[in-house]
Amino acid sequence: MSQEFSKGKGSFGAIMTFCLLIILYQGKQIRNKREYDYIKSGPGVSEVRMLSDYFEGLRDTPMDTRVYILRGREKGGNSLILGGTHGNEISGIVSAMYMVENIEVEKGTLFIIPRINESAASAVQVFSGDADYLFLGNDRKVRMGARRSNLTEHWPQKNSYNLRENIYLREDEARNLNRVYPGKRSGNLTEKLAFGVAELVRREYIDMTFDLHEGRPRFEGLNAAIVSRNSMDIALETALELEFEEINLRVEESGPGLYGLIHNELPKVSNTKAVLLETVNTAQGSMTGKVNNNLYLTGEDPIYAKLKDMGITSKVYKPYTLNERIARHVTSVEFFLRVLGSFNDRDEVVLRGVPSFEYIRDTDINKLF
Ligand SMILES: [Zn+2]
Repeated sequence: MSQEFSKGKGSFGAIMTFCLLIILYQGKQIRNKREYDYIKSGPGVSEVRMLSDYFEGLRDTPMDTRVYILRGREKGGNSLILGGTHGNEISGIVSAMYMVENIEVEKGTLFIIPRINESAASAVQVFSGDADYLFLGNDRKVRMGARRSNLTEHWPQKNSYNLRENIYLREDEARNLNRVYPGKRSGNLTEKLAFGVAELVRREYIDMTFDLHEGRPRFEGLNAAIVSRNSMDIALETALELEFEEINLRVEESGPGLYGLIHNELPKVSNTKAVLLETVNTAQGSMTGKVNNNLYLTGEDPIYAKLKDMGITSKVYKPYTLNERIARHVTSVEFFLRVLGSFNDRDEVVLRGVPSFEYIRDTDINKLF
């Protein structure tokens, strides 16, 4: 009897040890995903600040993030680039990283935040099959995060999200940075983050704010810019100039019903113009098969390809490589800034060292980083 009891105790101990090991392993994984991505400050970077330097409420929180400042020698305008509003939309993050590491500014100042939502970077996109990291073919890796901020930092979640007065959104939109603008000084962490962005925009007199996104293949022409009303003339001119280079960019005007979105809300609380840029990421698709690093890099998915052959997804599916998506974001920002400067000299930001669309598209990704 006593022998059986001690045998039971032994297996209980083994199970507990096993559980403890799993907890320790998982804990390490979670801690790793809270570490900032490696980003090298390129020759154009004059200073690196924290977003909490603009809004103290973010200090020592999981939301604080690095702001890279690229100042030109000549006085000009100020623009801001955000990557990683949605942590699983990788082209925006790597495009912002690429600009920090490679471009210089001749006139004006460029503020770049490659990973605006650090909390979303530490989370996992539910049902996506996403890996923890995107590998760029060398020793560089970038965290694959989730669309929304980490639930563990926003617990408990209420039944609905009250943006303001009588505007209510779905409960999990309280963790979606692009639904909580213009943010709240004493709101949840995601609302504080949006408030921090608005503070930076106001204090640095940002003329144009870019928010880099991507989405699943769902309709023709997702390669798009959704822009605030005060940017429409600049956006249409930019699209026309891109068209001359055979780069299509669909322009859409933001509307009053787009509650909490950056292009609708930020211009109401500051003097900025706001531009949200989208590329197409097959890995985010609802019909995508196995998700792996190759899919992140090539955009090629056998199930979408088969459905396209059958005529089912022929209007929506075209594989876009990560290179091409980076080329689209970088070139679009460059063209927007050029047109912005041509409209008003005081807003001008002149970039130097921006490679051509074709160079970024056609160079091995491990050579870009
Ligand atoms: Zn997005």
